[in-house]
Amino acid sequence: MDRRTRCAQGSRRAPDLGRPLSPVIVPAVAFELDDQAAADRIFAEGRGWVYARYANPTVSGTERFLAELEGAEDAALFASGMSAISTVMLTLSGSGRRVAAQRELYGGTVDLVARVLPALGLEVERIPRDELAAIKPERLAGCDLLLVETPVNPTLRLVDLRSVATAARAAGVPLVVDGTFATPILQQPLEHGADLVVHSATKYLGGHGDVVGGAVAGCRATIERIRVQRRALGGVMGPFDAFLLHRGMRTLALRMEACSRTAAALARALADDPRVGRVNYPGLPSHPDAGVFARQMEAGGGMLSFTVAGGPQAAERFHDRLRLFARAGTLGGVESLVSLPARMSHRSLTEDERVRDGVTGDLVRLSVGLESADDLLADLEQALAASAGA
Ligand code: PLP
Repeated sequence: MDRRTRCAQGSRRAPDLGRPLSPVIVPAVAFELDDQAAADRIFAEGRGWVYARYANPTVSGTERFLAELEGAEDAALFASGMSAISTVMLTLSGSGRRVAAQRELYGGTVDLVARVLPALGLEVERIPRDELAAIKPERLAGCDLLLVETPVNPTLRLVDLRSVATAARAAGVPLVVDGTFATPILQQPLEHGADLVVHSATKYLGGHGDVVGGAVAGCRATIERIRVQRRALGGVMGPFDAFLLHRGMRTLALRMEACSRTAAALARALADDPRVGRVNYPGLPSHPDAGVFARQMEAGGGMLSFTVAGGPQAAERFHDRLRLFARAGTLGGVESLVSLPARMSHRSLTEDERVRDGVTGDLVRLSVGLESADDLLADLEQALAASAGA
């Protein structure tokens, strides 16, 4: 065989893999088929490998892992959290062409439900979070789904999943829960009656700030419908990202325990500080949804937010003077981060919308990582002193 032919053909012999203790990355875009009948069989059974946008062994392995963590029959991974949420909403929005969503959501999801979906002809009913707990099934009648987010980014308010799930079920409306802040370690939405749970895997699931991804978990039939739609919309996760996500998820339980412990200590210290206004942390006894917290969360997680008593300018000075907390527009990694949500994650909302939803200019959001609590407390102290004194 000509050397050029040899080069171009590569080696197609599958290696003997043994039983590797960590996932194998399969970067192949396509898989060689014995004959057309083999391809037809794979398409008919929905199992097997043809083309990486349809399914990939590394991605499927991580999907199974996530499904187990969520107590779900199945899970699907996406190129980002927004890709997961939009694909789920487009899959479920059937003939009704009407969907319901909590009003207070991550800013990108607000963009999706307030701008993108209406432009596609969907009617979106936006329901304030504080009306959800007592919602009547009639309010949801005719909707194709209800999307909620708990804890809410960045106010850390909670949605009572059991009561919302009861109303949604009575109305025959699937409940979709964005559980990004809690992860399956701290909150199991399916156990509380949700139909699907979605995540930005970019955050705690990956946990190291090196993967952009999204996930949805739920019953096999619905996830299969979502996969068919994912095929058409194209927002699949790649095998390298699926490998990194799997590796990150192996330390998820330990990371969530550690960041919850440290965030609770920081929240308690901030709550006692006169330079600080309101502290939002689900684990604090003073949290307005403490009852819901006790029923549906194992611990408060690593996210907290608070207002700086001196107002937006003092909040900006505090933000700018932190040394250990890195100023960055993400969350859920091993290192601690700070952001001003009104000017980052919720920038695209109008000022009126932000004020109405509690995303005020004096609000600071912390993503607490794995550093020592004492070091982080010292950093908060020096930045508060500097912001108050300036
Ligand atoms: N849901 C929540 C609660 C988020 O905080 C984010 C991003 O910050 C998303 C969804 C979107 O995730 P991604 O950035 O991976 O698309």
